[in-house]
Amino acid sequence: MPPNTADPQLVDTLVVANRILAQQGIVDGFGHVSVRDPHAPDRFLLSRSLAPAQVTRADIMRFDFEGNAVDGDTRAPYLERYIHSEIYRARADVQAVVHSHSPSVIPFGATRQPLRPLYHMSGFIGVASAIFEIREAGGNTDMLIRDALLGAALARSLGDRSVVLMRGHGSTVVGNSVEQVIYRAIYTEMNARLQMQALGLGDPVFLNEEEAHLAAGVNDAVMRRAWDLWVAAVGPIA
Ligand SMILES: [Zn+2]
Repeated sequence: MPPNTADPQLVDTLVVANRILAQQGIVDGFGHVSVRDPHAPDRFLLSRSLAPAQVTRADIMRFDFEGNAVDGDTRAPYLERYIHSEIYRARADVQAVVHSHSPSVIPFGATRQPLRPLYHMSGFIGVASAIFEIREAGGNTDMLIRDALLGAALARSLGDRSVVLMRGHGSTVVGNSVEQVIYRAIYTEMNARLQMQALGLGDPVFLNEEEAHLAAGVNDAVMRRAWDLWVAAVGPIA
């Protein structure tokens, strides 16, 4: 059963967001997207453990900041729901979170080289992405954020930035809406691919802090155009 206290329109938006991430190649069988419940800011919506391309309205669950399902929901949740719970706890400005293993980002995490904004579309990266080293927080692990302690350490590494690379694992992106976080997840992957190419050619000139800030402002104002295109491409969710 979908959470009966959640806004049905927001549930639909979250389902569409799952489908967009899958269609754009940001997630495959793994990865997830969540949104904070605007009616209960200490709750968030996230699918049950399911490949994002297969998520329907009925699969959306509600969680508290301990990572526990509410509404008496006993279905199997994602192991890594603590990524979401601890970032929402730490960052009141964050309304939506995407966690993925999108491939072009992995080499940057592994070499602990931050992403930097190579072009205007990725101005939201700011000066640079953050980097999370799980060994510092948990020693040798299976690399997953499977408890609140690791989730809190990840949120600390993220700090006030929009993207955190997770060494040997993937990345997590935050935004002030579902639409914004989807845009950011897609262009984080794109920037990684382009940054890799640019590094192969020479010494790239990245956007500086002010350029990044200005470009991000424009993109926030016009990103609806891209969102509408992605929504149309996934088609009806029923
Ligand atoms: Zn993961």
